[in-house]
Amino acid sequence: MKIEIDMDLCDSHGQCVFAAPEVFSFDENDYVVYDAAPDDTQHEAVARAIAACPVRAIRMADR
Ligand code: SF4
Repeated sequence: MKIEIDMDLCDSHGQCVFAAPEVFSFDENDYVVYDAAPDDTQHEAVARAIAACPVRAIRMADR
């Protein structure tokens, strides 16, 4: 699975971090950092993060 965040859209409120903490986290400047190619075991958590993102900034490209 590959994912991508449009950082122009992201508002760093962190819903994705709560939904999928093994994939998304904050760096020391409170910007979201993420694993762009997470393991397939994270698929459901990533789907929750995508649904939770208020600005639809997360995109999943194929598994
Ligand atoms: S939920 Fe969306 S807007 Fe919020 S930090 Fe994650 S990617 Fe950015």
